[in-house]
Amino acid sequence: MAREPAPTAPRADWERTLHDLDVGVVVQERDLHISYVNPKAAALLGLTADEFRDRRTNDARWDAVFADGRSVSPDEHPGPQALQRGETVRGVIIGVKHGVADERIWILVSAVPHLAADGTVERVVISFSDISDAQRAFREQESTYQSVFSSMSEGLAVHNADGTIRTANASAQRVLGLSLDQLTGRAATDSRWRLVTASGEKVGPEDIPSEIALRTGLPAGPTVLGVHRPDGTRAWLEVQAAPLREQGDAQVRGVVATFKDITTERTTRLALEASRAQVQRVLDAVPGIVYQYQHRDDGSGGISFVAGRIRELLGVSEDDVRIDPNRLFAGLAPRERAALQEAIARVVVTRERFEHELSFEHVDGTVRWLRLFGVPDTNPDGLLYTGVVLDVTAEKQLAEALRLRQRREAMGDMAAGIAHNFNNMLAVILPNIQMAREGVDDAMAEPLADAERAARSAADLVRRMLALGRVDLPGAQPQVDLVPITMEALHICRQTFDRGITIEEHLGMDQALVRGSASEIQQVVLNLCLNARDALQGVRNPTLTVSLTADGARAAVLTVRDTGVGMTEETLRRIGEPFFTTKMPGRGTGLGLASAFHTISEAGGTWSVLSTAGSGTTFSVRFPLAIPTPRTPMRAVAPGRAALAGTVLVIDDEPMVRSALARQLTRAGMHAELADGAERGLAVLREARLTNLRAVLLDLSMPGMSGLEALPLIKALAPDVPVVALSGHVPEQVDLSAASAVIGKPVAQQQLEEVLRAVLLD
Ligand code: ADP
Ligand code: MG
Repeated sequence: MAREPAPTAPRADWERTLHDLDVGVVVQERDLHISYVNPKAAALLGLTADEFRDRRTNDARWDAVFADGRSVSPDEHPGPQALQRGETVRGVIIGVKHGVADERIWILVSAVPHLAADGTVERVVISFSDISDAQRAFREQESTYQSVFSSMSEGLAVHNADGTIRTANASAQRVLGLSLDQLTGRAATDSRWRLVTASGEKVGPEDIPSEIALRTGLPAGPTVLGVHRPDGTRAWLEVQAAPLREQGDAQVRGVVATFKDITTERTTRLALEASRAQVQRVLDAVPGIVYQYQHRDDGSGGISFVAGRIRELLGVSEDDVRIDPNRLFAGLAPRERAALQEAIARVVVTRERFEHELSFEHVDGTVRWLRLFGVPDTNPDGLLYTGVVLDVTAEKQLAEALRLRQRREAMGDMAAGIAHNFNNMLAVILPNIQMAREGVDDAMAEPLADAERAARSAADLVRRMLALGRVDLPGAQPQVDLVPITMEALHICRQTFDRGITIEEHLGMDQALVRGSASEIQQVVLNLCLNARDALQGVRNPTLTVSLTADGARAAVLTVRDTGVGMTEETLRRIGEPFFTTKMPGRGTGLGLASAFHTISEAGGTWSVLSTAGSGTTFSVRFPLAIPTPRTPMRAVAPGRAALAGTVLVIDDEPMVRSALARQLTRAGMHAELADGAERGLAVLREARLTNLRAVLLDLSMPGMSGLEALPLIKALAPDVPVVALSGHVPEQVDLSAASAVIGKPVAQQQLEEVLRAVLLD
């Protein structure tokens, strides 16, 4: 309860004036005791005049405190201050106890010293007014600010005009890892922060928001900065700054900087970016398309994700597909699309792994094959297939080429097998016809001559068929110069082809040693030219161009181009298949390219063909160049005139061939001793019962021990007896150097005699 103060009655005029003032006034004497109190002062402080007179101005009972809560020491009271300094003390805010109650009132105090004539202070007039209400409001606001300041999750630092930190909140201390003491006074440009930009570069004052705001007087940021903490870690901050100025004042008095700790955010984001980049790299490495197909429980479904080589594989725009992934297969033919949908419909029921193959026409016009794989996974929407689409065109083509090649080889083997047997029959037929021709009258001479001619061309054909089944034997590698061979072939073409055909040549090499025998390689060139001639039949301005060019130092390319009828796709696919021909019976055998390709691959070469129906064909053959090696030529058979006599051992598994040879030998004046195989022949030699043995006729291909195997054994048993090898087809790679001569079956009488004469002369 506040007591009603008892005002002192006014004593003089000035006292009367003071008496009525609405400001509390007390007069303090030099000894600090209070000599006058006006009624307002008594009322404000809740004391009687007597109680006032009982107190000094710095009495402890006032329990005075400053606005910041610090208690006012006896010297700091405005009255004693004014007395001491002899100057006016103005505008001090202090809180004092009101009367005897616990309540404190806030007063705004001024103290004015009265000087005596000698200049000393006589007394001090202290005036004060009650500002409790204003002070309370201010304190409340202040505490609100304080609690906001300290509880903010954002870091907040107040910088002085020189850039140093005046104060910082708890979050700032935590984020920066520094106490308030450590922070206070430190500048934003302090090197200990070791500031870096988001990209890790060093930071200058022009990058720091608080410095910018100080300099420009404008808000700055947000800017991402990395700051070093005393514990060695780095915090990433998003910093903003706003200038501080007093109301109506242009001058910047400081800066408030706020910052958010985005370390975790940033680390997460960077990790995410890195993993994205990693996924992208993985996607880039996939030689196809990666997709996800979502099948929903309600039966609907579609591609939900697609990435990778979309344009490369499917020729559709990647942007289009990104907008609508289901356009991925927009270009499929209806039949293929239906098959794909059916395959999907099947697999979503069985929930098995997905695998499907489809073909389509790429925008570049080629037919491509794709293989789709997918593995299922259940997700909240239903079934999610994740998989890849791969281009398997090359694989398909390879398989097809292999199948074709196997077929060609099988047919080649078959052809060679047939040819071998057929040749043995010719070996009987031909000598017998020849023999018959000698003993008949003129009426029979012509038919027999025809028969012989036919048998000879049959023998020729058979030789070509035999070449198909030939095996490449390791060892000797005959080589031949392609240049004279090509020239020779061109010569033959000019001699024999229709004059209407223009033949052009471009021989860009002086020498081109390739692997193979002269006859085989020549056959390749001739076959290509003959086919061109056939294709040029009936076309306008028929032209054949043969060129030979070097492909670097390692290969020669033979090109045979014609402006003929060209080939259909079906024909293109089948060329090289033995017996495949589009020509009339009797005009084509279908063996030309089969044997040519065989020779080319034996030579280590490759071929390619470009042909369009109606506009001509170009065959290119690439032969790797051989390194020249000296070669021991097989002994040439020189015609001789020696008389033939003595015994010849004939080793051949075919009885009719044996007897035909026996007849021919008898006609030549010699005696034939027959053996039906290599073993038997060797036994005969081992028994050494033959008198006057002059030569051995040895068939090379026989069941059991072959002639090739028997040859060295024969030479061991009878080193001085010449051996003549007989073969349907003699591969030149085979080492026959132990034989004195080689003759192809069927053997003509004259040829046999010539060979025998030659070897016996030796
Ligand atoms: P053949 O000439 O006996 O028919 P080939 O193996 O030489 O046998 O040729 C097979 C087939 O390939 C020919 O029947 C023909 O249809 C086709 N062919 C080969 N070369 C050409 C060409 N230059 N132009 C058109 N078609 C060709
Ligand atoms: Mg041909």
